[in-house]
Order: sequence, then C-alpha cells, then structure tokens
Amino acid sequence: MKINSQRLWKSLMDMAKIGATEKGGNTRLALTDLDVQGRQLLIQWANEIGLSVRYDAIGNLFLRKSGIADFAAPVVMGSHLDTQPKGGRFDGIYGVLAGLEVLRSLHDHQVQNYYPIELAVWMNEEGARFTPAMMGSAVFTGIFDLQQVLETTDKSGLSVQSELNRTQQQGDLELGRKFTAYYEAHIEQGPVLEQQQNQIGVVTGGQGILWLDVQTTGKAAHAGTTPMKMRKDSMVGTAKMIVALEKMVWEKFPDGLITFGEMSIANSSRNTIPAQIKWTIDLRHPNDQKLLAMKEQTHEILVFFAKQNDLSVDIVEHWHSPATYFDSVLINTVRESVQELGLSHQDIVSGAGHDAINLAKHCPTTMIFIPCEGGLSHNEAENITTEQAQHGADVLLNAILKFDQQRLAEAS
Ligand SMILES: [Zn+2]
Repeated sequence: MKINSQRLWKSLMDMAKIGATEKGGNTRLALTDLDVQGRQLLIQWANEIGLSVRYDAIGNLFLRKSGIADFAAPVVMGSHLDTQPKGGRFDGIYGVLAGLEVLRSLHDHQVQNYYPIELAVWMNEEGARFTPAMMGSAVFTGIFDLQQVLETTDKSGLSVQSELNRTQQQGDLELGRKFTAYYEAHIEQGPVLEQQQNQIGVVTGGQGILWLDVQTTGKAAHAGTTPMKMRKDSMVGTAKMIVALEKMVWEKFPDGLITFGEMSIANSSRNTIPAQIKWTIDLRHPNDQKLLAMKEQTHEILVFFAKQNDLSVDIVEHWHSPATYFDSVLINTVRESVQELGLSHQDIVSGAGHDAINLAKHCPTTMIFIPCEGGLSHNEAENITTEQAQHGADVLLNAILKFDQQRLAEAS
C-alpha cells in the first residue's frame, strides 16, 4: 500500500504558510500563537478522518484512530510542529504530517487496524523558547519532572504553565501511559543519505555523547626573551594534543566523532606565551564501549603531550549521555518495508537529539530517515523533494501495518 504523495506535499506546504519567513523557512516557537495555529490546522485535518483529539498535562497533543482491540495500548507515530527561530519547514513537521498521511491512507483504503494507532505532537522539541529541548517527550517519559518544567520560563518571564493555560493546550490524558511501539519519521538533518544516494535511512539508534572540560597549564613568559627550549607553551601543547586526538579517532574509531568547539586563553596577549588554556572535547560514538575506549585514549594522549611539553593537564567529565539502541523488532518492520517497496537504504545512527531518543527509554522505538538537500537543517533553506517525502511516509505506513499484523498474530 502507498500513501497519497500529492496530499502529503500539499499539507506540508499548507503548514509551512503558518509562521512563514521571508527566505522560505518557518518560525513557530513552542506555545506561541503560531505554534497553536499549526496544531489547529492539524486538528482540522484529523477531524476530517474522525480521529479523536486529546492533550496531556504538558501540552503534548494526541490524535487517535481507534482499533478493533481499542482497550489495548496504542502504536504511536509522532514528532514535533514547533521550529527553531527562522528554522526549516520539515524538521519535525515532516514526521507529524507523514503520520497524518498514514492515517489518511488507512482511512482512504478503509483499513481496519486491529490495535489503536495514535499520532503524537510533542511539545517544545526544539528548546528554542523554553529550555531544555525535547521537553514534552521528556516529561511524558518521566525523564523530567512535570512541576519543574511547568515553572520554566522563557526570556520574557512567561512560564510553560501560563502559556499552556493561555493557549488551552493542557489536558488530562495520562502521562507515561503504555505504548506498544513508537515510530518517528524525520529528515536526516545531515548529508550522509544524500551523499550515499540512499532513499531511506533505517535508524538503529542514537549515538552516545561524552563532554570533557580540559585545562592545559604551562607558564606565562615574554615572547621576545624566552628561548624556545625554555618555554612551557600551553598553546603549542594543546595544538599537538588536538592533532593527535583527531588522528586517533580517524585511525581507530571510524564511526566516532571528535570536536573541539570552545577554547579560551587566560590573559591572552600577542607577546606573551600562553600559560593557561581552557577547552572542550565532544566525543560521540554509537557504541557505548567504543565511546569509553575513546575517552580512555583521549586521556592517554592528553597526559602524553602534557609531559612531552612540560605542561600540566586537568580533565573533567562534564556530561555523559549513553548511546540509544532502537528496538530490533521495529527496526525489522522498517527494513522489510523498505525492501518490499524497492527503495535504496542503509543503516544509520541519529546524530541529533529527537523525541524518539526519549521514547526509547519508555517503549520499543525506532526512526525512519529521509535525505534532505545538502544535509541542511535548522536553516530556512532546509529542503526535501516530493518523492523523498513520499518514500518515508510509504515506509512508515507499511511498517505500522506490519507491526499491527505481527502483534495480532502473536496475540492469537
Ligand atoms: Zn526535529
């Protein structure tokens, strides 16, 4: 079975009119009037095919198609409708509207799903107005405390609670209720699928992240009077460390990533040898063991070059978020659907955060990626083609049907 690609594309374009920016992007920050207008348009479409509409206490919106076994826990599709300031038209929105298109297609073909199917719109995924990001799904899954999040304010001092009241986006649907499965379709937001010319990314999980704060300390001295061999130059030592660390990842961790995004030189001056540098290391890997091995080798390299350059080095672990492994049964429903539809595909790991990463702690979860132009996202120029949109939604539809059938077979 296939979805109606023209209808999906028209819905994407209609949604993009709400909060449209001059350069073809969207601004719909969470719980603003524009965000709520987007939700209302979705609800209007949901009403046309008889979906029920409910909210939970953190403003997540759920549209539901009942099943024959309507008492059972639902299989859920979803993503988010909020955007970055001057963000794109597809990040999040694509997953919601692909989910709607699945439900519309089931309605067109009068398919009676055995178990209920829901479409979730998670509140404030982007974290652009209220921080942190992925707020609605984190409260739903119990990762964040409801009360604390409700008291969070934006820059103008308005709280999540007051904005939920004002926009009437709060309801009584139970937080943390059981889902049998969660599927999220999303644009890749990176260049891999496009470069590999693959139509679908079968997402196997999310990578682990480890942040280190490093301080290299030498000795401040006059740039003109201190001979080269008498220096304790923290800048030169740090530069050698960075080169060696990058080489280590290239050579030993082909699926790993390392980034040095921040650096500050204490009392910097062009004619003083830098005494102290504070900098950051961001390590990422889809496998937790490999991530820890990367950390250990990072330590060894830092200590080696500190010694070689007569410096001291302090290393503090700032943050560690373990890798996410998606559910193998769900991944298989996606992989089989992709194969049956004859689409080119590859396994891929999510580089960005998504509501699905939170949901994976709550229920069997997986994601479906489609390519986006130049891998560009969080940008007004974010773009996909009609065909790319169709492929992802076709896969979502078939994976959902496959899951429904498998579940029925297991129950009987
Ligand atoms: Zn997103």
